[in-house]
Amino acid sequence: MVRRDLGVSFTRSSDGQPRGGREWTAWQHDRALAVQHTGAVTARWVEQWPDPEALAAEAARLWPSIAEKAASDDRAERTALAAAILAWLWGRVRSADATLDALTKAVRAARALGRDAALHAITSIGLTIPAGTQALDAFEAADAATSTANAAGTLNTSIRARLARIAAVLAAAILKGVTVTALAALIAALVRDVAWLTLLIVTEIWKAINAAAATVYAWAAVGWGHWQTADDDRVCAVCSGNEDLGVVTLDALPDCPGHPRCRCVILPDRAPASAIPGVQLADLAAA
Ligand SMILES: [Zn+2]
Repeated sequence: MVRRDLGVSFTRSSDGQPRGGREWTAWQHDRALAVQHTGAVTARWVEQWPDPEALAAEAARLWPSIAEKAASDDRAERTALAAAILAWLWGRVRSADATLDALTKAVRAARALGRDAALHAITSIGLTIPAGTQALDAFEAADAATSTANAAGTLNTSIRARLARIAAVLAAAILKGVTVTALAALIAALVRDVAWLTLLIVTEIWKAINAAAATVYAWAAVGWGHWQTADDDRVCAVCSGNEDLGVVTLDALPDCPGHPRCRCVILPDRAPASAIPGVQLADLAAA
């Protein structure tokens, strides 16, 4: 989609580089940042789990008696077994602190990227920013703390959901009477299947980039902006609709990113002439 109403077109090629038009400089670095930090966070995540072989051996010793009691197709029995396994798993997972530390680093780096891109976006349209970015540091501190707290909350919710899934799969496996080796493979596959964790990290990075940009806009008293999509054929209908809102006051725009893997940003704009007191469209036409 091309933004005809702004007089310039924004496009983003498949390799993430903007093509012409106004730049959102974070687009040149966000994917590299995501790749770099995804490696670190997933490594810490895998380390927080006990060795799958040892866990499987322990489970095999512990669960036969429970499996006998629960050896039925009764859904309630399976649910009870999954809950018992979940509690047992909780006691064996190491602290998630290292995972959280790595995620916090990613969020901090993403905020720095969003901040720089937002400052660039503001000056590139000829708006001035207040002198001295030390003042921005102070202004940003509270919002940066909110970003890291939000990421911690998301990680915590996600770990609980992942544990529940692992417990349910283990309950089904125990009821079927699988071998220790098969159980170990099952646990290893579940722990190391980090596709969902990758999505979480990428989403938190995009959220932090946009949150930092919003902080900069507020600090620089930017009042207007528009929803900018990545402008390719993968943009969803909801984000396209947001882009179609055009240049509006920033508080009239929905929260960005709009969904997991959303690549959109809010770009700043000068106030439209029609919004400047004393300037009427008729005056512009007459000029
Ligand atoms: Zn989007």
